[in-house]
Amino acid sequence: MFNLVIFGAPGSGKGTQSEKLIDRYGLTHISTGDVLRKEIAAGSELGKIADSYISKGQLIPDELMVDILASEFDRLRPESKGFIFDGFPRTIPQAEALKKMLEDRGEEVHSVIGLEVADEELMERLIKRGAESGRSDDNPETIGNRLKVYHSTTSPLRDYYTAEGTYRAIQGSGRVDEIFSRITEAIESQTVLN
Ligand code: AMP
Repeated sequence: MFNLVIFGAPGSGKGTQSEKLIDRYGLTHISTGDVLRKEIAAGSELGKIADSYISKGQLIPDELMVDILASEFDRLRPESKGFIFDGFPRTIPQAEALKKMLEDRGEEVHSVIGLEVADEELMERLIKRGAESGRSDDNPETIGNRLKVYHSTTSPLRDYYTAEGTYRAIQGSGRVDEIFSRITEAIESQTVLN
């Protein structure tokens, strides 16, 4: 099994590049943001809780996220030859929980691809996406908050995964296919996929 974390700020291109990576390597996508948006659309209890955080640009509490992640992983695992974790982990406790969850199952994170994009460009991309996608959290006020949360709480994961030896920084500006090439080069120089 090959397990990859795609990491970066909101708007850094994680979703776009995940789709291309799935096509290339046949991995299974777990986007915690997508899981939560589905729960909101279904009007479930979990969706109601999630909405109260997402609409403010805040993170859902770690314990809840870790449970959601583990149940998605176990549900999808039988048909999977590896995973892309997109939007998870977002905090150090989540990274530690992911490590333990995988270790308990005889697995590990092989590669962490960090998409690095300047804040001004992220802001522009997210405002544009909001106009097109209608995502309720892609409005200027919530975007500002999400970027703050990213810098204070999520970006320390770069140091965490650098220490683990799995972090690869990727310049996340430019054409989608150029960025994709940078990612596949980083993955393929790091590991042999089978
Ligand atoms: P995303 O689609 O990954 O940008 O996620 C949208 C929103 O869902 C985030 O702004 C958070 O409010 C929430 N969310 C998604 N993944 C996580 C996570 N791993 N931890 C906490 N909150 C999350």
